[in-house]
Amino acid sequence: MVASEETGFDRTLLFTVPDRDARGRVVRLGPVLDTVLSAHAYPLPLRNLLAEALVLAALLGSLLKDQDGQLTLQAHNSEGVVDLLVCDYRAGELRGYVRHDRARLDELGPNPSLHALFGDGFLAVTFDLATAGQRYQGIVPMEGETLAAACESYFFQSEQVPTLIRVAVDCSGPHAIAAGLLLQHLPDGEEGRERLHVQLDHPEWEHLAIMGGSVRREELLDPALTMEALVWRLFHEEGELRADRGPPLVRGCRCTGDYYQQVLGRFGVEERREMVNEAGAIVVDCAFCSRTFDIVFDDLT
Ligand SMILES: [Zn+2]
Repeated sequence: MVASEETGFDRTLLFTVPDRDARGRVVRLGPVLDTVLSAHAYPLPLRNLLAEALVLAALLGSLLKDQDGQLTLQAHNSEGVVDLLVCDYRAGELRGYVRHDRARLDELGPNPSLHALFGDGFLAVTFDLATAGQRYQGIVPMEGETLAAACESYFFQSEQVPTLIRVAVDCSGPHAIAAGLLLQHLPDGEEGRERLHVQLDHPEWEHLAIMGGSVRREELLDPALTMEALVWRLFHEEGELRADRGPPLVRGCRCTGDYYQQVLGRFGVEERREMVNEAGAIVVDCAFCSRTFDIVFDDLT
């Protein structure tokens, strides 16, 4: 799979259906997904899980109006086979990793359910708005079958916005691909308003959710079908459609030697001395991209 303007791999499509008070996003991940996955030697179930989470991070991240804002997804259960999954998105940059117990994972077989992986875990969705210095966080239990379903409940419960999300993932071949569709009903306008009750049975939303929900896995992943053509196919009977491409998606990791120097610098000299290896350096692994850094402090030598 080649990242391309044409097919939309490693791109986002932002669309609205003004006559139906709806907005949506389509995301396709190709080479960027390979890049993120290549930093980790995960077995297939975790490749699929991380691919789904990265699609969700891109879908939710593309809702940010703040160019420097960040979206973080964190799924967690200290007792789980997977005890932590983290993905984030900032200005088109994606990254993520899965912390897990390999021996327990192997016992689950090739196709473990979300509940088998996380047990009674939680998903935290965090929007950091850099410009306004504000942070919004919602935490929902992972009760559904998929991470996408947990994100839908986040929107229902924390934002009171009826939301449909579909994700398709194929990590079995030599090149991983994944894609997703997000659709939201905002009858009070794009900005939304305080709503005390989510009206899930609004006839307009029921209709839209049927149209959006009819999207097939093959359509989401089909490189011969552009993202624009896909949205047109689903919603052209709903009136005018407006669509724009978002920024290209890339793997972005913020780890640098300077960053770890700063973090470790907050520890006392004695504590840092205990972390130093024979060569006189503190070795740090970035969980996101698996790069290692040898951090050397003058005051320890
Ligand atoms: Zn990194």
